[in-house]
Amino acid sequence: MTRNNYQRTRLLIVWFAVSAIFLMPVSVFPQTKLTLHSNKYSVQDDIKLGRQAAAEAEQQFPLLRDGEVSSYVERVGNRLEAAIPSEFRHPGFQYSVRVINARDINAFALPGGPMYVNRGMIEAARREGEMAGVMAHEISHVALRHGTAQATKGQKYGLLAGILGIGGQILGGPAGAAAQIAGQGVGVYFLKFSREYETEADILGAQIMARAGYDPRDLAAMFQTIERQGGGSSGGFLSSHPSPQNRYARINQEAQYLRVQNPIRDTEEFARVQARLRGSPAAPSMAEIARSGQRNPAEGGGNYPQDAPGGRVDYPSTRYRSYNELGFLTVSVPDNWRKLGDNDSVWFSPEGGYGQYQNQAVFTHGVNFGVSRTQSRDLRQATQELINSLAQGNRSLRQSTNFQRVTVSGRAGLSAGLTNVNEATGQTESITLITTQSRNGDLFYMVALAPQSEARSFASAFNNILRSVRLDD
Ligand SMILES: [Zn+2]
Repeated sequence: MTRNNYQRTRLLIVWFAVSAIFLMPVSVFPQTKLTLHSNKYSVQDDIKLGRQAAAEAEQQFPLLRDGEVSSYVERVGNRLEAAIPSEFRHPGFQYSVRVINARDINAFALPGGPMYVNRGMIEAARREGEMAGVMAHEISHVALRHGTAQATKGQKYGLLAGILGIGGQILGGPAGAAAQIAGQGVGVYFLKFSREYETEADILGAQIMARAGYDPRDLAAMFQTIERQGGGSSGGFLSSHPSPQNRYARINQEAQYLRVQNPIRDTEEFARVQARLRGSPAAPSMAEIARSGQRNPAEGGGNYPQDAPGGRVDYPSTRYRSYNELGFLTVSVPDNWRKLGDNDSVWFSPEGGYGQYQNQAVFTHGVNFGVSRTQSRDLRQATQELINSLAQGNRSLRQSTNFQRVTVSGRAGLSAGLTNVNEATGQTESITLITTQSRNGDLFYMVALAPQSEARSFASAFNNILRSVRLDD
């Protein structure tokens, strides 16, 4: 080697060293080292559980169906996914992002990769970096396998504990998870993580942000945005991702180890998507979605109607579909009716027969089943108590016929005709209330509801439904 060559080589080495510091996106300063928690579930279990839960979540939540918004958040998601450190990549995990049309600032991710961000979160973020921060935090929970790690510890948190609590049954068989979580409402989809796990997701989130070319300080900034905008309230991000101590400072400290040259902070695409969302009709809150028992049809296009009901309603189908509800009721209803509601009170209603009015779910057509804990154990008195309590919420409600004896699933029951003026449509409606006692003395009821002008078209369906009722308690 000649002297000249030697010098050139040294210069090249120096140049490489210098450029490594300035050109590589992530510096070589010591980052916080994270490790996976012990986990008795396999990577395959994560994938399987996440898929089941995602299918349920998409039944329960109204997804935003907007191609521009969807492809944008997917692109940001892909960019972050590509930046997951290799030690936290798991074979078979498939990351995806979908937007829920809800106004609360929230996001959640399921084991194995499905992530959901609320439209409210995108609208609240001040720039793309803040939105990406929340997504990087969620991806970190998945990559660190926090859901099944938490379940391994046997903590009773949220959805996974619910699914895993009944154990092998579910992981093995088809009967379990969906049925188990179907009735539990929206809240169960929010895994409530421990503060230790929150810190880990913040730190790995910051590292992923930097590796993807974002400024990790935007993750810290997003937590301030969330707090300022009430994300700490129930149903908000902080109720499922509780803040560890000094969250903001800890993320910024990590950010110092992660210098990024010319980070992406904001983009025109983000501004365009945000303007598009802000210009769309207001989204419901998660609580409103939960109350309305929103079901998002798999075939698409059917977000929960923002309008009061009152459109045209089809005749009841003559084909029936059987359901098991309330833990002891089997009933058949026309197969063009949809199930809405929850564990305590379930509705079956045709398309157009329900909607929203003043942020409440309102029904004009259909049947409702439930159980009422009345003071009286006498059927007639208990039924009267129920009518009185219904009348408190519906001031135009009147009893129009005397009680008549009927048989419900082989038991003595009562029927009463009522009329009401529907608060959303202003129409007079006719209601038939049917009651009987459950074995423990509670009052089981069926309400059959239709506008007075259509009552005759619905009468035979209501009769068929009543005849199909089987109580097994
Ligand atoms: Zn979290």
